[in-house]
Amino acid sequence: MIPFNKPFLTGQEGRYLEEAISIGRLAGNGEFTKKCHERLATEFGFKNCFLTTSATAALEMAALLVDLKPGDEVILPSFTFVSTATPFASRGAKLVFLDSQIDQPNLSLESLNQKISKKTKVIVVMHYAGMACEMDEIMELANRHGIIVIEDAAHSIGANYKNRPLGTIGHLAAFSFHETKNISSGQGGLLVVNDDRFIERAEIIWDRGTNRKQFNLGLADYYSWQDHGSNFYPSEIIAAFLLAQLEKRKFIETERSKIWNFYHGALKILPSIGYRQPTIMNTQSNNHHIYYLLCPTKEKRDALIDYLEKQGVLAVFHYTPLHSSDFMRSQNKLIPTLPNADYFSDHLVRLPIFVGLEEKDLQKIVDAVITFTASNVG
Ligand SMILES: *Cc1c(COP(=O)(O)O)cnc(C)c1O
Repeated sequence: MIPFNKPFLTGQEGRYLEEAISIGRLAGNGEFTKKCHERLATEFGFKNCFLTTSATAALEMAALLVDLKPGDEVILPSFTFVSTATPFASRGAKLVFLDSQIDQPNLSLESLNQKISKKTKVIVVMHYAGMACEMDEIMELANRHGIIVIEDAAHSIGANYKNRPLGTIGHLAAFSFHETKNISSGQGGLLVVNDDRFIERAEIIWDRGTNRKQFNLGLADYYSWQDHGSNFYPSEIIAAFLLAQLEKRKFIETERSKIWNFYHGALKILPSIGYRQPTIMNTQSNNHHIYYLLCPTKEKRDALIDYLEKQGVLAVFHYTPLHSSDFMRSQNKLIPTLPNADYFSDHLVRLPIFVGLEEKDLQKIVDAVITFTASNVG
């Protein structure tokens, strides 16, 4: 069976783990955490980095930082992972879901313009497959209304919008280093703070709600409870592993790009028989996180996944829309109609992509897709 994903090891992880163990202070916020922060700052210009145990945790930090009050609304796409929503739902925000674009899973500006209101406190954008949302328009709209923008950049390490790294544009941004993402520490994440007004509280919230940083710097006599917070940062073991991966990001991306480009070229025939390939706008770069196809119907999508599985290939669909999820239904809220979010949920299939996927396996996947799609025309 060809898996959908297989974690890639650079070979350097073990050496860094040994180093972390020999340093001996493993509880986090140590040497390797600092090295990860420095590397992320020099490579992407992330001014203020906070490694977290996951992107979910980074979004939970963001939800605490924006200081939601009763009645505040948080606008977010429906076609995304639950962790885009849960941190804000848990803080009592009213969630307002956006539809996707027609051509891409990313949020639709038209939908955003319709849903923005005086109560909107936050817009969470999610860059699907590392393809940037329309950030100039979104930031202009948000700044005009005094709204905070949070980038769910879980897919987006190494991706750009008009040559600016994703994660540097919103006021806050969250990345994931889960094993399914381009760069992985098994579990892991990152909060990037771009707006200086959040930095002081971010330091406290990150460290369990205490001013331990001030204490360590000799700026306070003792450290104590100051604000909301949790234990958000990973151990040095995770940070050591992550550093090895970050150092090989370009290699990982190049390897993934070969696979992505192979699919894109070999499946060029699909649009002529009712299928769609991913589109990339000239404001977007491609970090080759996901290769997806859009099938003419849900039945064909499900049948393609079944067929590929029988051929020994694991292909997968993606998100079920959040706006009509069991949880939202259980809240007795009005369920909006978001046809494009439903469309991507029903029609999208992702093909295997990981470093080490061999050429003969790639050819086998492409052959199986062509055989299925060609025999199912009409
Ligand atoms: C993977 C993912 C997350 C969650 O990341 P974790 O690190 O697993 O918490 C959040 N949002 C999106 C869009 C994701 O794909």
